[in-house]
Amino acid sequence: MSFLNSKKLPHEEPVYENREVWQCKSCTCWAQKEYVLEDVPTCPLCHEPMEPITKLIRLS
Ligand SMILES: [Zn+2]
Repeated sequence: MSFLNSKKLPHEEPVYENREVWQCKSCTCWAQKEYVLEDVPTCPLCHEPMEPITKLIRLS
């Protein structure tokens, strides 16, 4: 991950971006794909399979 473009914005507005994440099918748990090593992870909370989705997440 690069922080070269991390200059602070004048208004400190939160930055949102669409990222690919793993979303649990049974609960609200999700994890960014870049932090998941498994090909198909299971939810750490309820141990259900997770599915890949695109989620708008807050970056700052
Ligand atoms: Zn779950």
